[in-house]
Amino acid sequence: MIKSDILIIGAGPVGLFAVFEAGLLKMKCHLIDILPKPGGQCIELYPKKPIYDIPGYPEILAGDLIDNLLKQCSQFEPGFTLGEKADKLEKQNDGSFIVTTNKGTKHHAPIVVIAGGLGGFQPRKPNFDGIESFEEKGVSYFIKEPNIYIDKNVIISGGGDSALDWTIELSKVAKKLTLVHRRNEFRGASDSVDKVQKLKDENKINLITPAEVFKLEGTDYLEKVFVKKENEEIELSADFFIPLFGLTPKLGSISDWGLEIEKNSIKVNNSLDYQTNIPGIFAIGDINTYPGKLNLILCGFHEAALMCQAAFKIINPDKKFILKYTTVSGVAGFDGSLKKAEASVVKSIK
Ligand SMILES: Cc1cc2nc3c(=O)[nH]c(=O)nc-3n(C[C@H](O)[C@H](O)[C@H](O)COP(=O)(O)OP(=O)(O)OC[C@H]3O[C@@H](n4cnc5c(N)ncnc54)[C@H](O)[C@@H]3O)c2cc1C
Repeated sequence: MIKSDILIIGAGPVGLFAVFEAGLLKMKCHLIDILPKPGGQCIELYPKKPIYDIPGYPEILAGDLIDNLLKQCSQFEPGFTLGEKADKLEKQNDGSFIVTTNKGTKHHAPIVVIAGGLGGFQPRKPNFDGIESFEEKGVSYFIKEPNIYIDKNVIISGGGDSALDWTIELSKVAKKLTLVHRRNEFRGASDSVDKVQKLKDENKINLITPAEVFKLEGTDYLEKVFVKKENEEIELSADFFIPLFGLTPKLGSISDWGLEIEKNSIKVNNSLDYQTNIPGIFAIGDINTYPGKLNLILCGFHEAALMCQAAFKIINPDKKFILKYTTVSGVAGFDGSLKKAEASVVKSIK
């Protein structure tokens, strides 16, 4: 049995930051993740993509953000159970929980925090015959390593943020980049739509709308993509076809835990502490829902901080919570080592 103060399901950016916030309050965390390494969507879906809305970082690669979060939380020595799915939850008489993974590992904690993001990653796939036979042979639903597209013929399909963002990024390296979308209008951020329009106007990309990819051809590997635009059929030479139609959220067995669920997300009390309808179970990050919820990393960080204060009160009912600035109190790891900001000394020059 693995014991901790807070058991965190999901080692994405929000779960990792929760470890740091919990550590400041001397609470020990253990994380479970289905994936073999921490990082959630940032590592699995877009490690080499720059993020621009992390406070204090004008630009940071998603992979680097995860490296930093791991470094930041490592001083509190979190435990990790990776490559296993949190499967069953049993409430104990004392109000604590035992969570068992699909591989039978048992975890015991007074607080369970679900930071499971989108749950399992299930890409929405285009609906035409034969696409599966080209998976990993030119067809992929995620972009992990943009360098493989250098000097290649790339066809992206989709009309949301992912399709637009990757069109902008890969247009810098691909030999020829084509974006195919079934509508003339795009769902993504208007700034990205403007950038894509500019790339098209400057003949840096080929934009085909309203159109859909309906057939792929190739001997061992993808060679051709066929697009239907109204009554016309267009044949494109292709090294890669990347349909970016979004992800289907899959809560899996967590949806059987008695939690209040709304549209595949866990309802939480956002006026207080992001606790679910089951006392002692919190949900933070992309997996939760409340009025005005935004699926942004910075919102998950805020939720993690408030959740930890509430968890502290549950674990330490007799202790008073006092907010301390890390600049003043420093960060004492569980080994007792203290990192503290050096007081700056300003000397006047005579
Ligand atoms: C292409 C793309 C670009 C983006 N750009 C930005 C951006 O610029 N700025 C921004 O703020 N956000 C951006 N986002 C959104 C951002 O990535 C998410 O808001 C963020 O990852 C949510 O973090 P999380 O920790 O809540 O969940 P996730 O990152 O989804 O991590 C959840 C983890 O939980 C694990 N898990 C789920 N269920 C279980 C289970 N039952 N047992 C064990 N493990 C489980 C998963 O394997 C996963 O590792 C982008 C997303 C995408 C796809």
